[in-house]
Amino acid sequence: MYRLKVVVIGAGIGGLTAAIALSQSGYEVEVYERAQELRPRGAGISLWSNGVKVLNRFGLGEKIAAIGGQMDAMRYLSSQGEILNHICLLPLIEEVGQRPYPVARADLQAMLLDAYPGKVKLGHRCIAVEEHGEQVTATFENGHQATGDLLIAADGVRSTLRQYVLDREVQPTYRDYVNWNGLVEVDEALTPANTWTIYVGNHQRASMMPVGGNRLYFFFDVPLPSGTSAPPELIRSELVEHFQGWADPVQALIQRLDPEKTNRLEISDVGPVDRMVRGRVALLGDAAHATCPDLGQGGCQALEDVYMLNHFLLTTNISVEDALKRYESSRKDRTSSIVKKARNRAEVIHGKDPEITAQWYDQLRQEAPSAVTGAIAKTILTGPLQ
Ligand code: FAD
Repeated sequence: MYRLKVVVIGAGIGGLTAAIALSQSGYEVEVYERAQELRPRGAGISLWSNGVKVLNRFGLGEKIAAIGGQMDAMRYLSSQGEILNHICLLPLIEEVGQRPYPVARADLQAMLLDAYPGKVKLGHRCIAVEEHGEQVTATFENGHQATGDLLIAADGVRSTLRQYVLDREVQPTYRDYVNWNGLVEVDEALTPANTWTIYVGNHQRASMMPVGGNRLYFFFDVPLPSGTSAPPELIRSELVEHFQGWADPVQALIQRLDPEKTNRLEISDVGPVDRMVRGRVALLGDAAHATCPDLGQGGCQALEDVYMLNHFLLTTNISVEDALKRYESSRKDRTSSIVKKARNRAEVIHGKDPEITAQWYDQLRQEAPSAVTGAIAKTILTGPLQ
């Protein structure tokens, strides 16, 4: 289809990438974001090869490589520092045809903003959407209205527009663990600079992976009841308590991190949902399928959504509604399966059934590295870009 005007709600990874892709396809795109100032939520993200391939497709390959970390291996260690498994990632890269890139979220956001030829309209919180004839209109809290041929609701895990598309309310579900994340400078005393290091024990994790700019993206996860919180000044003592007795690099990381710049959040997911579109409105990214981060696939799925949505708008010409239906058909099963798989993995990692988690620790010791890379390759290669 030609000469479409697209209204995008939300300037996260999904909304911005959609805006870049659809602008490149020759469509008129307007992006509306509720925040007054764009700040990334979270310190880092690991873009696996399926997500990177989408960025390559839209001409961002060199840019993502420039800001990405060189992750050649991953290794699991016990909480005491015993190496359980060391996995070279080069066979995976060869199998799937593209390196993964862990990146600082601020760098990724800056890269996407730079590549979007328009200007994001900040301070616009979308509160309603209405379809009329061959148009759709978004209404914002500040009274502004925006009309287009289609609307992309990329408004994240707490999406306002999800209810319009699903015709019912679906709230995110807390998945029973808290995640802390941030950035520290690379230091061999913490982890080899080209290696994603993950300490596991007591249903918790402490992890570090390289991102560009000589930094490590770290995270900790701990199963906790919902509703816990801690001000920045208590974050270090909280982590000291949860990770008491863990290996020296974990202790060093806790001392090294900047509590003021460490994010602390309860992990939730959404779905699987039974629809992704209604008429001229399409959910994209976390709005449709917020995913536990335990597979590192939530953002990658938003990128795959963009690829398929752009594909059907460009290659079909029956109607916008028809193209969106095709988008939904191409994405619903894939994203539902990733949401379920990531939730299942979160449960294994975080001790929903302690026996299963104990078995997983044993399995890590015995598993052939090719089994680990094979499972990652399968997730990557079952996406739209082989
Ligand atoms: P968001 O990034 O949430 O963007 C939504 C945007 O919409 C926001 O800017 C918001 O302000 C705006 N908005 C919301 N409501 C409105 C409104 N009413 N009007 C206007 N604007 C609005 N994924 C990976 O691929 N790899 C990883 O390693 C990874 N690690 C993760 C680690 C953690 C701890 C978490 C929580 C997630 C992780 N993810 C990862 C998932 C990934 O972060 C998300 O899937 C991705 O950011 C979703 O992008 P999005 O654009 O759909 O939503």
